Amino acid sequence: MAFTKQRSQEHFLRAQKSIPGGVNSPARAFGAVGGSPVVIDRAEGPWLFDIDGNRYIDYIGSWGPHILGHRHPAVIDAIHAALAKGTSFGAPCELETQLAELIIEAVPSIERVRMVNSGTEATMSAIRVARGFTGRSVIIKFAGCYHGHVDSLLVKAGSGALTLGIPSSPGIPSGCTADTVVLEYNDQQQLEQTFAARGSEIAAVILEPVVGNMGVVIPTPEFLQALQSQCRQHGSLLIFDEVMTGFRVAYGGAQSLFGIRPDLTTLGKIIGGGMPVGAYGGRADIMNVVSPLGPVYQAGTLSGNPVAMASGIATLSTLKATNPYPQLETLTKSLVNGLSRLATDAGIPHTIPRVGSMFTFFFNPDTVSNLANASKSDTVAFARYFHAMLERGIYLPCSQFEANFVSAAHSQAEVGATLDAAKHAFALTKH
Ligand SMILES: *Cc1c(COP(=O)(O)O)cnc(C)c1O
Repeated sequence: MAFTKQRSQEHFLRAQKSIPGGVNSPARAFGAVGGSPVVIDRAEGPWLFDIDGNRYIDYIGSWGPHILGHRHPAVIDAIHAALAKGTSFGAPCELETQLAELIIEAVPSIERVRMVNSGTEATMSAIRVARGFTGRSVIIKFAGCYHGHVDSLLVKAGSGALTLGIPSSPGIPSGCTADTVVLEYNDQQQLEQTFAARGSEIAAVILEPVVGNMGVVIPTPEFLQALQSQCRQHGSLLIFDEVMTGFRVAYGGAQSLFGIRPDLTTLGKIIGGGMPVGAYGGRADIMNVVSPLGPVYQAGTLSGNPVAMASGIATLSTLKATNPYPQLETLTKSLVNGLSRLATDAGIPHTIPRVGSMFTFFFNPDTVSNLANASKSDTVAFARYFHAMLERGIYLPCSQFEANFVSAAHSQAEVGATLDAAKHAFALTKH
């Protein structure tokens, strides 16, 4: 039967009458690839099912959280058990301490951790703590890194240039970003020059230690070393935004993979196992400035929510007990190697950065090391490829500049089916 998304299209028209753009997060609207999104009915293991009855092999995993696949039995059981005891207490519960202990045990640099409800809240709070702790204002971020929709971090940069923060969204007064300096990722020299000029003003440097949000971009060892040494030398804090990479590229996150010890770390996505959870943590002496111990205020009505905590605990416990990381590495490698072979056969220039189970197929002949060269990718070819894959039952992230995720529920069978689809999709993509 031919692919149809008639019901999805009808529903999306209805959604647009009550929800801005028909979506509650903009990336879902297919704006970068055109056409209207498919509306999801349910999910299971490695699959998504839309309301027209189409089944897709899922490579977004809710944009990162579902490293165990959808509806993992341990996670679903834990959520049921928590629900039976209540949905929110507004008072301490044992589950939030259990999740905190699992995080501290896993992530080398985290000694204390505070739960919040999203990655955005985590980065916003970490920035506040860094400024409160150091008594300084300036934050360095990197072009192409996304840290949620925090006012002071929603800034892009002109390519290559050391750019003073200009807000990339209306509604953010220029004062909010006046203390945000945007540098090019992987540019060690620019970083050192900025510290030489303004070191005593810099509260913190925040980055994705493996970037997922301009597509996957891998840091060089020299860049990571420079970050650590410049921050130490100038008394600035190093913040690893591991909302995406935490428990994804390794159980202990990118910092365990690279042997770097950031002062603060932000988490989200996987630690909620599909429920809304974020967290920020780090050195005890820094985290002790957080209210009620210290003067830096941060709070949340639903923070440490028992149902969300239960989902996170079950997810991390399962990851710890089953250690799916070697298998994810092997499977994702075979997928990426297969895609590369097929693309080469089809004469499509490409590069596929990958760390563990996250990767991006860039329609770009060159190495992608920062936003400037990521931006040179062929987004028209990507859009054609995306739709050709969707029609063949493969659900990819709907933009060239996003990470693909493989889950522990994926197997060689799904990889094989994906490569079959890609063979046809690449043939269509070229013309
Ligand atoms: C997803 C993401 C965020 C924002 O998290 P939300 O839960 O969407 O607010 C922040 N930082 C990084 C690196 C992310 O990938």
